[in-house]
Amino acid sequence: MSGIGFEILARDGMARLGRLSTAHGIIDTPAFMPVGTAATVKAMTPEAVAATGARIVLGNTYHLMLRPGAERIAALGGLHPFMNWPYAILTDSGGFQVMSLATLRKISEEGVEFRSHLDGSRHLLTPERSVEIQRLLGADITMAFDECTPYPAEREAVEASMELSMRWAERSRHAFVPRPGHGVFGIVQGGVHADLRQRSAARLVDIGFDGYAIGGLAIGEGQDTTFAMVDATAPALPENRPRYLMGVGKPADLVGAVRRGIDIFDCVLPTRSGRTAQAFTREGTLNLRNARHADDPAPLDPECRCPACAGFSRAYLHHLTKSGEILASMLLTAHNLTYYADLMAALRTAIAEGRLADFAFGGAAP
Ligand SMILES: [Zn+2]
Repeated sequence: MSGIGFEILARDGMARLGRLSTAHGIIDTPAFMPVGTAATVKAMTPEAVAATGARIVLGNTYHLMLRPGAERIAALGGLHPFMNWPYAILTDSGGFQVMSLATLRKISEEGVEFRSHLDGSRHLLTPERSVEIQRLLGADITMAFDECTPYPAEREAVEASMELSMRWAERSRHAFVPRPGHGVFGIVQGGVHADLRQRSAARLVDIGFDGYAIGGLAIGEGQDTTFAMVDATAPALPENRPRYLMGVGKPADLVGAVRRGIDIFDCVLPTRSGRTAQAFTREGTLNLRNARHADDPAPLDPECRCPACAGFSRAYLHHLTKSGEILASMLLTAHNLTYYADLMAALRTAIAEGRLADFAFGGAAP
């Protein structure tokens, strides 16, 4: 097998039911990827992540190149054995974090020069180096190196940034070493301008990638604009390749984007919320810190199959969060990732059965 495989099994409107084949297994799509920034999905063992149903996680080039270092991970056999995760891994290119975390950034045609937010050390990240780091990590899916355009920004600035990202995309594609079961995705940029998004998509399709991501959204533009950009972009992407909406989102965002033809998602929301006492349930979002849960013997979500719902009451989870216990983060993260995995599974079933139009998940229509 060359590259990564993608097979579409059923359609419902623009939505697709698919199977993504990688060197580390098959992912049923639409799929949600838990975020494992520093080679760990925070508060979760790999077994617990797999038990939620996840078969792909996201790793971060920026964090891992600074600590513990890509060459060190490669010498230890790559990210899969390092973090003991046998399934697929997608790595981001570092473009987003270098803009949001690093200091003293200097962007040039060559790449981004920056200082580490950890120790102030100086680094240069280029499309070639980003792709090399992702190969050293052993990523099943490599992301092209791009510039994360600030929002809001003037149209001319967005256009120049998008054009730079497209030149970097071409260099990223060229630097990628083809291996069986491994692929590289291009990233559509263009801010909130439909015509720039379409020009970016056309340019990436010309270069030719294994899959296509839509980047630079869900950074404050609002759901209507996010959806409008997906509406403008998805039809410009090849029908037979996976589409990944980066950094999105809330349950309702996922449902809306699946309806618009998106196959893959990632977001810190379920894991970060799990560490801040927020739980996603079929009846809406709960804050476990709230005193109304103190005497409640009911589980978080009676329809949920996760360890938190199988064995514990809302009262106990409230107690753990109020006491600052580590188990609160573990249980609520497991619950939230299970909720996201089950939401995606329900979407897949709805597409297979052609009833996405009246999709509901439990009591709520997310
Ligand atoms: Zn649960």
